[in-house]
Amino acid sequence: MSEQPTPVRTTCAYCGVGCGIVATTADGNTTIAGDAAHPANGGLLCSKGAALAETLGHGGRLLRPRVHGRDTGWDEALELVAHRFRDTIAKHGPDSVAFYVSGQLLTEDYYVFNKLMKGFIGSANIDTNSRLCMSSSVVGHQRAFGEDIVPGCYEDFDLADLVVLVGSNLAWCHPVLFRRLEDARQRRPDMRIVVIDPRQTPTAGIADLHLAIRAGSDVELFNGLLAWLDREGCRDYDFLEEHTIGAVEAVAAARESARSSAVVAAACGLAVSDLEEFYRMFAATARVVTAFSQGVNQSSSGSDKVTSIVNCHLLTGRIGKPGMGPFSLTGQPNAMGGREVGGMANMLAAHMSLDDPGHRRIVQEFWKSPRIASRPGLKAVDLFEAVREGRIKALWIVATNPAVSLPAADRVRDAIASCDFVVVSDCAADTDTAVLADVLLPAAAWGERDGTTTNSERRISRQRAFLNPPGEARPDWWILSRVAERMGYADAFAFESVHEIFDEHARLSSAGNDGARAFDIGGLAGLSAEEYESLEPIQWPVPERGHRGTARLAEHGAFFHPSGCAHLVPTTPRRPSHETCMRFPFVLNTGRIRDQWHTMTRTGTSPRLSDHMPEPYVDLHPDDAATIRLDDGDFVKVTTAWGAAVLRSRTSGEMPRGMLFAPMHWSDANCASGRVGALVNPAVDPASGEPELKHTPAAIERVVPAWHGVLFGRTTQKVPDAELWTRVCGDGFVRFELAGLRPEQDLAARGRLLLNVQPGRADLLEYADEGAGIYRAAIVRDDRIAACVFLSRRAQMPSRDWIAGLLAKPALDENDRMALLAGRPLAGATDNSPIICSCFNVRRSAIDEAIDRHGLQTPEEVGSCTRAGTNCGSCVPEIRTLLGVILANRSRAA
Ligand code: SF4
Repeated sequence: MSEQPTPVRTTCAYCGVGCGIVATTADGNTTIAGDAAHPANGGLLCSKGAALAETLGHGGRLLRPRVHGRDTGWDEALELVAHRFRDTIAKHGPDSVAFYVSGQLLTEDYYVFNKLMKGFIGSANIDTNSRLCMSSSVVGHQRAFGEDIVPGCYEDFDLADLVVLVGSNLAWCHPVLFRRLEDARQRRPDMRIVVIDPRQTPTAGIADLHLAIRAGSDVELFNGLLAWLDREGCRDYDFLEEHTIGAVEAVAAARESARSSAVVAAACGLAVSDLEEFYRMFAATARVVTAFSQGVNQSSSGSDKVTSIVNCHLLTGRIGKPGMGPFSLTGQPNAMGGREVGGMANMLAAHMSLDDPGHRRIVQEFWKSPRIASRPGLKAVDLFEAVREGRIKALWIVATNPAVSLPAADRVRDAIASCDFVVVSDCAADTDTAVLADVLLPAAAWGERDGTTTNSERRISRQRAFLNPPGEARPDWWILSRVAERMGYADAFAFESVHEIFDEHARLSSAGNDGARAFDIGGLAGLSAEEYESLEPIQWPVPERGHRGTARLAEHGAFFHPSGCAHLVPTTPRRPSHETCMRFPFVLNTGRIRDQWHTMTRTGTSPRLSDHMPEPYVDLHPDDAATIRLDDGDFVKVTTAWGAAVLRSRTSGEMPRGMLFAPMHWSDANCASGRVGALVNPAVDPASGEPELKHTPAAIERVVPAWHGVLFGRTTQKVPDAELWTRVCGDGFVRFELAGLRPEQDLAARGRLLLNVQPGRADLLEYADEGAGIYRAAIVRDDRIAACVFLSRRAQMPSRDWIAGLLAKPALDENDRMALLAGRPLAGATDNSPIICSCFNVRRSAIDEAIDRHGLQTPEEVGSCTRAGTNCGSCVPEIRTLLGVILANRSRAA
């Protein structure tokens, strides 16, 4: 395929909002813009989506198949993979092999992996990293509705009179949907927003009411609401009578656990008045959307949390109508598409059930497969435990990095390393997981892939390739199909295009489906290649040709249990799997930050995105920090029963006492000690298998480095010799933040080692003060900095922006050289405050100053004064929080 100078309409690579993007490539450069015609975003993009063009380079890409570290051709690699899987199955049976795939895959990729494992290998040992983010919602949907359906759509956020956000930092994790909510509230100021989250996140900044509940007490809260709604006469009797089963039992169980507001408030750590204010708002408002995300799902009782939320909507009949309903926010771009093809260990294809012999027959006949899996396979955490125990002997990991992202990640890493045969397909060459592979298969990356994704509101969108894959990289569906052919299944996997796969997937969705299953896209079967190419975003079900898609499900009370009714299911609160104790007195909560995605293999290559929060950190309450004499930016060791990490401390003001928050993104590939997955307890929800990523008992201790440093290089990828380091991507350079834990007698020697130079070299500028414990040096070639290092026994380091400015200069002058040795500009102050607006590089200090100097009151005024927040808008919630803090301080001072 040649590069196309014409704009290509595609879909964002990141979160479940599923924004449409227009990519235009000319002369080797791609520009990215929001697709104004896409219903999910109407042209808006957040900071991550807007920076996609910066992630398209080939640095760090896997370009050729590799077998045991040796580059090879596709034939050898594919033959080896097919042979080892075939051989393992022959010797040890179908359940001795497994695939671990990803919500990053396109639906067509997912489809073929699932088809091979369940229909041809005959095992259900295929699971996905989506297990870690929304499998509890799947269980909640299946229990209540009889099928994994999201009843509502994004328009409901525009139409609701009350939006309840539970365990969702929407402002950072689904920013474009958050902006849509902000706009709706601006148009309709009477709309109310309640945020339920232990943390005072940027999302909580727009809440009329923020309930900072005790971590893990969601079932208590929503059981209390169910009992309250029942007591206050909010039942929709007609709806309950005609369309539901189980209300009496669910309400009885709720009453049992929520005997009074005082009991619930105590369990949730809330004031009774706040709790009852929420209950009154909910009871009095017909148009309520309750949106929930990982704070609900990632729990050992995540399924019950979802169920307790859905029960409240069913009791009041607030579902399936404009502006109302429970709404699961999916984390990944194609978590929904993966569910549609059955890409999880406990599902069959097309929303059919592994436990249903009739469904198994439909799928097997459709696939003409020799066998079909007849029982659920291993879910993610159990799957890697089986690898560790040697029960899984051949493992294929696709587009994901479990050595970083799974709980107890050290154990997972050891498990993968001990497996007899490991295949990894990825676009990145050196992930923590890729380095453990026997066979590495180069996959096409976002801009090179073709297929479809489904977003949180069931909208199927085309992802279209606009670049050629570099080297030997190939799409995942192609790789799998060629392996399947070599395993002896040539007829069933003779796919030569994504269009053929999509057509088969669409036909299967309508096979044996007379309306019994909501997931039916039979209307998209039989599209010509041109029609598929130009397919417009559409929400399933699409049961017949010409159907325009379905905004809401359950509109007329139709559900998908055999009875046609929805089920209210009793829930009983359970405490998290592991409680805090003397040894581990804190609760560790993990999650995402605004400008990074998963394990940073893409966003970590964007200088703009790397600036927002460049180093792994742990956020904690200022009083907790004070107990161990921590200042912001000091190092702190976080220890749990499963692992330890050394992180920068941060006291953002968001955290309640006793809770820690650490981002999930950093890995061994980009820092020495920030792999937070290693700390997380591997307990899972018994129904969904989703791990408890938000609640691990932890301890903290202050770490005082013997020396600090920062190293800049043009090209170096080599990991520096220091106990603590973090790699940060810059514009035209790589930066390492450094610290050493062992005393260093000779900082100059250490610095030269880091620069890899001998003293006295003509191109080396050096300043050393042994008494003060300072070393500064730069290698200057052709009047430009090739590399430079600053080391000190004290934590103060030069401004990174200032050094980046010197690196960008075409030629250093004499003052620059002197300033380098002085470790600061010869005139003027430097600014190390954090970047708030990535689009316009606006730092916190500039915003603080503008607010103070001009008496600014709103994010809009800050925007007009500093430009911050006026492009993608992702930083507006942070600006609002800053304003809140500064205005509150001002009024206290007055
Ligand atoms: Fe991508 Fe941001 Fe849209 Fe999510 S909200 S799909 S990350 S542009």
